[in-house]
Amino acid sequence: MRDFVYNAHPGRVIFGRGTLARLPEEIGRLGLKKVLLLATPQQVESVAHLADLIGDQSAGIFAGARMHTPTEVTKQALDQLRESGADGVVALGGGSTIGLGKALAFRTDVPQIVIPTTYAGSEMTPILGETADGLKRTQSSPKILPETVIYDVDLTMTLPARMSGVSGMNAIAHAVEAMYAKDANPIITLMAAEAIAALSGALPAIARDPQDAQARSKALYGAWLCGTCLGAVGMSLHHKLCHTLGGSFDLPHAETHTIVLPHALAYNGPAIPDVIERLRVVLKTDDPARRLYEIAQEIGAPRSLKEIGMPREGIARAVELAMSNAYWNPRPLEASPLTGLITRAWEGEAPHS
Ligand code: NAD
Repeated sequence: MRDFVYNAHPGRVIFGRGTLARLPEEIGRLGLKKVLLLATPQQVESVAHLADLIGDQSAGIFAGARMHTPTEVTKQALDQLRESGADGVVALGGGSTIGLGKALAFRTDVPQIVIPTTYAGSEMTPILGETADGLKRTQSSPKILPETVIYDVDLTMTLPARMSGVSGMNAIAHAVEAMYAKDANPIITLMAAEAIAALSGALPAIARDPQDAQARSKALYGAWLCGTCLGAVGMSLHHKLCHTLGGSFDLPHAETHTIVLPHALAYNGPAIPDVIERLRVVLKTDDPARRLYEIAQEIGAPRSLKEIGMPREGIARAVELAMSNAYWNPRPLEASPLTGLITRAWEGEAPHS
């Protein structure tokens, strides 16, 4: 066995159906008097229900969370946090709302309770991505990590089928890359394998029936583990490529991950035989990259980068950018096979394993 380092992040997780009802108790457990509730404008109704549930423990609602955590939104929320006298925050929503809670905690160290309603996994990482003057900056600090996470499967039932699929594939990408990370370790690999098994079974079932509570439960469980993987070890080619493609061509986050993942895995395959062997078992297939490509089809995700708005001329630029930022990857980055990878993803072809 290889030597390894395993960092366990502190944090309390409550998982199940109807777990939202435990929020008042959890606020008390952290010794908080009043909390500011955070949401996007789209989830204002759900957060109003939370305010009713916690009564006097509510210091008000800020329902202005936006994608990519713009710092001007954080400033408004920070003003409201100070005026309200709240000593904690509760974020209900996906990565956008959770990002706002993290941005407030980073500035003030207020304790956070997070109630995730998508599969993005941000609640499990000490990472914050913020946008100022059109530029996204990422930082990491223990202050950013939420204190308590309440997963309530019932809240995910309304997540639209298509978004559930791509959000879940985005989560799978965290687990796949965790298995071949430079700082991979056996504990995180266990979680990654469990997560991929849970999500790869659940996502096609949700696409067939978004009200399938068993599948929803498995998907949320898998997403939690994937978030833990993302927060624990470094990511490589797949995440760097998606970051570059998303930033350069303004492509949607989860869809880009869904399209690129089978190709990135096929690229790295020759350098990670042990991981491929494990994925064969987990995904019940001879060709894990191909199976991920098929799952993307089963959930009705877009197949190609061209479909989601990347111009063909962008391929050469994307290769150049991917090669210019030095980062660790199990297989060295070479221009010609990378061009093949991005071209196939652009066309929507099957991966070359
Ligand atoms: P999101 O939070 O932007 O949500 C998308 C939309 O879906 C919003 O309008 C939201 O209100 C709505 N929604 C969420 N849950 C719903 C539900 N159950 N029912 C109905 N509508 C619902 O999307 P996301 O994919 O969760 O998050 C994306 C953001 O999170 C990106 O900015 C990404 O960079 C960030 N992220 C950060 C990390 C990290 O570790 N820092 C990890 C993953 C993602």
